[in-house]
Amino acid sequence: MCGIIGVTGKEPASRILLDGLKSLEYRGYDSAGIAVQKDEGLVVLRRAGKLVELESVVGELEPFGSTGIGHTRWATHGSPTESNAHPHLNGNDRVAVIHNGIIENHEELRREMEAAGCAFRSQTDTEVLAHMIGKGIEAGADLAESVRAAARRLDG
Ligand code: GLU
Repeated sequence: MCGIIGVTGKEPASRILLDGLKSLEYRGYDSAGIAVQKDEGLVVLRRAGKLVELESVVGELEPFGSTGIGHTRWATHGSPTESNAHPHLNGNDRVAVIHNGIIENHEELRREMEAAGCAFRSQTDTEVLAHMIGKGIEAGADLAESVRAAARRLDG
């Protein structure tokens, strides 16, 4: 069972995300990561293992932006490595996704996204969602529309 947290406000997000993930540690996990929105774009940090591993690198990179998402992963598709840890990004690194559970039809969706030119960087079922949302935005949808359209296509 993974943990998910999101924050937006005025305080640096990284500390709030880490504290939130720590409070969810009891659920169990094998890796962790955060994405924080900065002026220059999304910053994603991920580590296999315990939150202390993530915390050590987050500290070096502060100050961060004040909007972000965080995830502790319990691997179901792909081994518990850094590259499989969430968040997952779309091709142009504008969309970051964290997800709890299983996308049952991920293989079919992955084939579709690969045929549309997407290069995958993990073995997870989750990554397909980042590409689907990114493609929707490229096609002219706004973020919310694109998330809703992608979610409608998921089984599981
Ligand atoms: N199925 C996803 C993965 O393997 C999410 C697992 C979870 O719920 O943490 O990355």
